[in-house]
Amino acid sequence: MRYQSTRGNSPQQSFLEILLGGLAPDGGLYLPVQYPKVTTAQLDSWRGLSYADLAYEVLSLYSDDIPEADLRALLRKTYTEQVYCNGRPQDNAKDITPIHWLGEEHGTRIGLLSLSNGPTLAFKDMAMQLLGNLFEYALKKKGQHLNILGATSGDTGSAAEYAMRGKEGVKVFMLSPRGKMSAFQSAQMYSLQDPNIFNLAVAGVFDDCQDIVKAVSNDHAFKARNQIGTVNSINWGRVVAQVVYYFQGYLLATKSSAEKVSFTVPSGNFGNVCAGHIARMMGLPIEHLIVATNENDVLDEFFRTGIYRARKSAETLHTSSPSMDISKASNFERFVFDFMGQDGKATAGMFKQVDETGGFDISKDAVFKDLSKYGFQSGRSTHENRLETIRDIDQRYGVMIDTHTADGVKVAREHLQAGIPMIVLETALPIKFEETIEIALGRPAECPPAFKDIKSKPQRVENIDADVNQVKAFITTHLG
Ligand SMILES: *Cc1c(COP(=O)(O)O)cnc(C)c1O
Repeated sequence: MRYQSTRGNSPQQSFLEILLGGLAPDGGLYLPVQYPKVTTAQLDSWRGLSYADLAYEVLSLYSDDIPEADLRALLRKTYTEQVYCNGRPQDNAKDITPIHWLGEEHGTRIGLLSLSNGPTLAFKDMAMQLLGNLFEYALKKKGQHLNILGATSGDTGSAAEYAMRGKEGVKVFMLSPRGKMSAFQSAQMYSLQDPNIFNLAVAGVFDDCQDIVKAVSNDHAFKARNQIGTVNSINWGRVVAQVVYYFQGYLLATKSSAEKVSFTVPSGNFGNVCAGHIARMMGLPIEHLIVATNENDVLDEFFRTGIYRARKSAETLHTSSPSMDISKASNFERFVFDFMGQDGKATAGMFKQVDETGGFDISKDAVFKDLSKYGFQSGRSTHENRLETIRDIDQRYGVMIDTHTADGVKVAREHLQAGIPMIVLETALPIKFEETIEIALGRPAECPPAFKDIKSKPQRVENIDADVNQVKAFITTHLG
């Protein structure tokens, strides 16, 4: 499989060639030159496969420069019951992403696809755990080292650290805003003792951390000299790893491939739901893909109106579903490229306009009228909706859900269709956002046994000023 840039002006490359990089040289994102098609007969033949072997069937369509036996071994090492063991005890853990059915509403079943049973209790583990093993594999092959530099306000950083801990050839330098994360999230990151993981607690806010990463990335000489890389959400390896659980969710919810399902996806950077779009383009029988946003409703606005209006960072609201607090959706460009007929020039023009004017408007264009063929719908949820949904799901079904999943359930309920199962992607477990759960329910969030004493474990973290040169100096003295 070859990969092309969404801006149409970069050489095509293979899977392993794009794996360790970020943006294409022309500023675009990589996508395969075509989506491999899966027939209904093929799909039915995948019923009953283990998650790892299902992942092999999907990923082998995209990564023909990894020998089959190597890919299968990597996937079997990644998707094990031991790693994904933190789910609800009554669920079938060997499914890796089991469906937890809530019940029937308006003539249709509604269920949660549990994506948060991994080591950091959020769906980012699903892709990041694979990326850790793929990076180690690719670096060994090339005889290279990689120093991953990132900034986090919670979920992404911890998922990256748990994926890269102990990996040969990889070091992680993760900036986080000192004292600004929840006690649970900082304990999760800072309690890691692996010598290849460095937590840098910055005296500042998340934007300061991000600015430092940007400044280092823009210093091309420093970056090349020190093998600096990133694992942000535009990485193709992350997106394609996420395609697998849409297949798994579909297969668990249906008996034959004549049936359809809909998915609702709590969304921020459009990474998760972009994987759903790709699964649908491959032929997975998905009726609707419903994009659920919080008060930062860039994406809901686009699907309702055809107007894409990125927000300034000052306009970005801090909400109780913080992992969806985004000002622009970095993976959205992949979908734009598709609905513009994979026209790189047109896509480049639209994102030039985003840079210059803050957005684009296709409300009067034929492509917007045609958008329904991609199956998208959308909705938004607020703090009040979130609390109300957490309470309602707890009372009605005895199930505790996190704030992001609550946004998903709220929006899913507005789009139910009789006879078509509705699967809401559960993107985190409630303990990660325990402060809001306590407010909603008046009792503490459930905590998986392995995390009971996380806050009392010794922590390994370096304090640092919000200063690029200090960060650079730290990296060069601790390099891989
Ligand atoms: C990252 C994240 C999201 C948003 O996913 P995108 O791929 O950015 O759309 C939603 N919920 C949780 C808990 C997350 O960590």
